[in-house]
Amino acid sequence: METKTFDLKKQLLADYDTRWSREGISGERLASRLGKLSEIGLTANNGSRRPGFSSEEREAKNLVAGWMKEAGLMVRQDGAGNLIGRLKGRDKNAPVLMSGSHVDTVPDGGHFDGTLGVLTALEVAQSWQETGYVPRKPYEVVVFSDEEGSRFNGGLTGSEAMMGDSDIEALKKRTDYDGRPFEEVLGDVGLSAQTFMEAKRPLEEIESFVEVHIEQGKRLEKEDLPCGIVTGIAGPCWLKVTYNGVAGHAGNTPMTDRQDALVAASRLIHKITHLPHKFSSSAVATVGNIEVKPNGTNVIPGEVTLYVDIRDIHEGPREQLIDEIIATASHISASAEVSVDCRKVHSVAPVPVSETLQADMKKAVIEVGLTPYFLPSGAGHDAMIIGHHLPSAMLFVRSKEGISHNPSEWSALNDCVQAAHVLKHYLETAQNK
Ligand SMILES: [Zn+2]
Repeated sequence: METKTFDLKKQLLADYDTRWSREGISGERLASRLGKLSEIGLTANNGSRRPGFSSEEREAKNLVAGWMKEAGLMVRQDGAGNLIGRLKGRDKNAPVLMSGSHVDTVPDGGHFDGTLGVLTALEVAQSWQETGYVPRKPYEVVVFSDEEGSRFNGGLTGSEAMMGDSDIEALKKRTDYDGRPFEEVLGDVGLSAQTFMEAKRPLEEIESFVEVHIEQGKRLEKEDLPCGIVTGIAGPCWLKVTYNGVAGHAGNTPMTDRQDALVAASRLIHKITHLPHKFSSSAVATVGNIEVKPNGTNVIPGEVTLYVDIRDIHEGPREQLIDEIIATASHISASAEVSVDCRKVHSVAPVPVSETLQADMKKAVIEVGLTPYFLPSGAGHDAMIIGHHLPSAMLFVRSKEGISHNPSEWSALNDCVQAAHVLKHYLETAQNK
């Protein structure tokens, strides 16, 4: 008999405290489902490969659809391939409470990013079924399509379609990693550009959205806490900065007579590290991409382009930080005698989580017997897209060493199950509002 070398369920259950399986929430079931999903698109490194609109993503959605039915949900798929499991509420006219995430992954990703948000949302519905609790408001568990975007270099495709944010003409021009156009790929999974546009939901149908997600950072680990309340989702702004100096011979140009674009750029990179905290405790700025021309060992750099990724959960401080970086770039250009050009090439508005939803989540955390801890989300999620239109909250689950988008991504089952309990309390409180 062949022995199974990778067994996620077994690994998860190894240090599980079974006392967390109560009130209809089952850690054993959650571990079993995380394990079953991990088998779809399993890579040689025991990671996960389920690109958006692939047969693997389709298979994972089908598996979840079966579990949704088991939990008593009415299952449907919208025109963008988003899977929706709906539980009727006692009040037919009440708007929907929605929770979920995604099951697609980056090419060699982990087994928690996305799937945990889907399975905890489902676990709440299943716990209600087992305990005979009927919510007043309808509840929907959603699996959004193509969140990661590694296939078309985009992402958040399903949630954008549901919110009516998609630019279908731009999507049609995209090709995937095999050079295949977007519409052709949609066709593989029974969708089309036409159905895609029909995925838009009337916003008045939905009251709010909540997403459980792994932190993908180390804050909760440092605080030794299983989960944390997200204060806001930082929107990225990319600033393209180009310094133009004069390229010259590295040997024949005296040090006093140079217009070195890279020296100017390096001064800016250094300065940028000291700027974010002046404007907001959650702001960050990073230079991760730089092009040097002509890029020769014996040539003084004549032109340097660098990209600054600037993020904060608050738009005001983020804009002030952008202005300060531009002012600093010009100041350096004047003293280094090189010219500079700065332009914004990409900008997504940040989404602060409302004080009310943060307070509701805090109440749920305390009810479960945990210590409330607040933290920002530096990365974008489906909740960011929904949050531009509807009240949205997030609950982060501790990530081992902050590792994510990697086969070694890990969250302990004890932490995952505690998050499911918090989500359940949060959604039950929302029934009485
Ligand atoms: Zn994710």
